[in-house]
Amino acid sequence: MGEEVKNLYVHFPFCRRKCAYCALHSRAGRGQEEMSRYCGAVARSIRALDPRARFSTVYFGGGSPGMCRLDGVFDAVRPRLAPDAEFTVELHPLDVTKERLSDLRQGGVNRISIGVQSFDDGVLSAMGRGYSFSQAERAVLEARSAFDNVGIDLIAGYPGAPEETDPCSRRIEGWDLRHVSVYSLMVEENSVLGKKAARGEVRIPGDAETMDRIAACSRFLRSLGFVRYEISNYAKPGYECRHNMAVWRGEDYTGIGEGAHGRMGLLRTENWWPLDPGVPGLRPPAAETVDPARDGTERAIFRLRTSEGIDARGRPGWMAALDRAEAEGLVSRKGTVYTLTERGMEVCDSVMSDLV
Ligand code: SF4
Repeated sequence: MGEEVKNLYVHFPFCRRKCAYCALHSRAGRGQEEMSRYCGAVARSIRALDPRARFSTVYFGGGSPGMCRLDGVFDAVRPRLAPDAEFTVELHPLDVTKERLSDLRQGGVNRISIGVQSFDDGVLSAMGRGYSFSQAERAVLEARSAFDNVGIDLIAGYPGAPEETDPCSRRIEGWDLRHVSVYSLMVEENSVLGKKAARGEVRIPGDAETMDRIAACSRFLRSLGFVRYEISNYAKPGYECRHNMAVWRGEDYTGIGEGAHGRMGLLRTENWWPLDPGVPGLRPPAAETVDPARDGTERAIFRLRTSEGIDARGRPGWMAALDRAEAEGLVSRKGTVYTLTERGMEVCDSVMSDLV
């Protein structure tokens, strides 16, 4: 591995408790000692990457990376940051304190993403997030006072979410955010919510209802000056997430840790460590080598999710499918570049499945 290591993702699987909608791998309610061992392995792993590697983007996701003491990890990352690197850390609202924000700044972090998820106290409680809306708001404002580049994540279509705050509330006008991600609720079979839904104990809003709410939120965010640069992501101009854009544009990214995915040449990795992490009980790593045709398709196709669109030049099969989608009003075309329309964004998966 050489200087091509530009985009680094590190997964921290620790959470206070399991959220009701979550089926991701996570380690809930663990002690500081276990987290420290994990962070030690992360720091050693980053040092084990090619010494010439320089990171243009670094993304610490979770889980809740903010629960961990990250000093040793920062010491490993900081010397390898490119001069204009984007360094994001996801934070749970309860992890946002003045001291923590100051540690992050010193660690080289310059972008904060806070998982607010809902503006409704009843929904936050049903989700098991462990904070109220006013605590989330305090966290966002605290983060904004320490960082310029702050964004939030929201979930649309949670059972019982009132229309006026699902997924967005006018309250964010005063937050002066740079980025908002809006995801529609995925009901995972193995989550607490999925089990309740299977027993008929909760009503899951229909797709059309959720899409209508996302469309209203999208209009509201545009009125505040946000640009929808990817199906689920809105940013003020110049504040698009560079790490995620690199992934959608088909660049390589190195993923370290339990729950991390990576793409390095033809290699796809999961739960990967560049050296034996020396921590017992971790999920086993998995790696797969894909053929060059699949590699090329994967790297090209995800651009369709973005406002940049995909170039169908040299791909006659794509051109025919995209022309059909254009006739249905799902994409618009400029030369050989196709971009999703607002309607197309709602059914992107089906447009993409016609291409592969
Ligand atoms: S949603 Fe995030 S914070 Fe909640 S359990 Fe899943 S990984 Fe942890």
